[in-house]
Amino acid sequence: PPPPPRPHVVLVASPGAGHLIPMAELARRLVAHHGVAATFVTFTDASAAPDATNSTVLSSLTASGEAISTVALPAVSLDDLPSDARIETILLELISRSIPHLRSLLLSISSSTTPLAALVPDFFCSMVLPLAAELGVPGYIFFPACSTTLALMRSAVELNDGAASSGEYRDLPDDVLHLPGGVTLRREDYGDGFKSSKEPVYAHLIEAGRRYRAADGFLVNSFAEIEPAYRYNVVEHGTFPPAYLVGPLIRAPNSNEDATSSSTCIEWLDRQPEGSVVYVSFGSAGALSVEQTAELAAGLEDSGHRFLWVVRMPKLLEQDNNTFDKEESAHKNDDKEDDPLAWLPEGFLERTSGRGLAVSSWAPQVLVLSHRATAAFVSHCGWNSTLEGVTAGVPMVAWPLYAEQGVNATVLSENVGVALRLRAARDDGVVAWEEIAAAVREIMGGEEEEKGRDVRRRAEELRQAAARACKPGGSSWQVLEEVADTWKEAAAARRRC
Ligand code: UDP
Repeated sequence: PPPPPRPHVVLVASPGAGHLIPMAELARRLVAHHGVAATFVTFTDASAAPDATNSTVLSSLTASGEAISTVALPAVSLDDLPSDARIETILLELISRSIPHLRSLLLSISSSTTPLAALVPDFFCSMVLPLAAELGVPGYIFFPACSTTLALMRSAVELNDGAASSGEYRDLPDDVLHLPGGVTLRREDYGDGFKSSKEPVYAHLIEAGRRYRAADGFLVNSFAEIEPAYRYNVVEHGTFPPAYLVGPLIRAPNSNEDATSSSTCIEWLDRQPEGSVVYVSFGSAGALSVEQTAELAAGLEDSGHRFLWVVRMPKLLEQDNNTFDKEESAHKNDDKEDDPLAWLPEGFLERTSGRGLAVSSWAPQVLVLSHRATAAFVSHCGWNSTLEGVTAGVPMVAWPLYAEQGVNATVLSENVGVALRLRAARDDGVVAWEEIAAAVREIMGGEEEEKGRDVRRRAEELRQAAARACKPGGSSWQVLEEVADTWKEAAAARRRC
């Protein structure tokens, strides 16, 4: 007789490469190693241009095997939203309005011969969880940040909804917040939304956190060795369901790189000595002010080290976070509108030519980090970048800008020990070139640079631990196997009924 059909897991990914890429890797591993079939679902905003990263990720996913398929839900219109609607409002509307389409898809899967085994929305799509309850299957949230951020969210919801007194972090008497694993967070590192309930994202986070309680578990893109306090997570997560550490889930090298930027960076790295280059990047959206860009340039120049710097458009006006506001800048600086390199200090590129490469906006990061010439990473500490750095065994200089990057930077520098933290000493929040140059020297330096030496040693230890975690028998492999087994058992039990 033919083998019984594989139980079917439906993963639902919100727009954004930072969620889509690790979740695609989760789908790939579930299918390749843990005996399920998967459908990977994305959303379609009728007014948005097609996203090249998305389509490359999705096509490489379907190429990886037969038991995996991808579905883009039918487009929904968002034309009625105000033109100044915030990005999270747009995304949440897109997802909510797509729920009827997702429901039809799930119903058609569950009435086919392959039993529906679980629904796995990412952390932004928690409003689809009631569909899991409706169909009687487990619902797990994919959480693409670290467990400490999840703990921060959980206690924010508890504080907000507390029976005794409702409150928020800023009402707490202490200047620091203590989280599991000996993590001590300063107020400035709480992350967007948690510094004050008046921040626009606060209400969204609390609402999402309340919905998480209906989930059966979290699949977290982290691993036991980087966050040991969460290895036995059930207790620490209090009113939240248990969290399972199944990472690091990072994109495979080569999967979706832009050919031109790839070849420029890699050809340049190929010509550099082994372990000689510091890679500087602030993720897909991080932007520095013009003044900060100049300080960074001066710091890199003064450090004397080789560098590969991904330069993004500077932040020009006071904004509510450190991301670039294209419209404002276009207004004021037509001539420099599209060229981040035009904002570098006069003569900088000439003076550093031969030992520094500045590229505009984008580098093939996974390839750069794993290149033999790359020795250190000055990073905004986005969680994907962090895991990519850790997987490559590259020590970091932590320079968080927005979102939950301050949480990550704290964990990495104070608890895990794979990063040196840069903090602005000046009142205006600008990190001075002297501090940047000193941090680069320390992280790149020889054996006499004691802190740098410890951080480099930890980075190598963690690289090995990350590789072990994802191999058969490793912590993340084992945890995912156990979760998949519970899904399969539940599916088999439903079939018997
Ligand atoms: N990335 C890249 N090249 C760049 C900048 C970013 O490939 O020049 C990729 C990086 O490898 C990571 C993702 O974009 O996978 C950024 O995710 P992260 O969570 O680090 O930061 P975010 O962009 O969400 O702030």
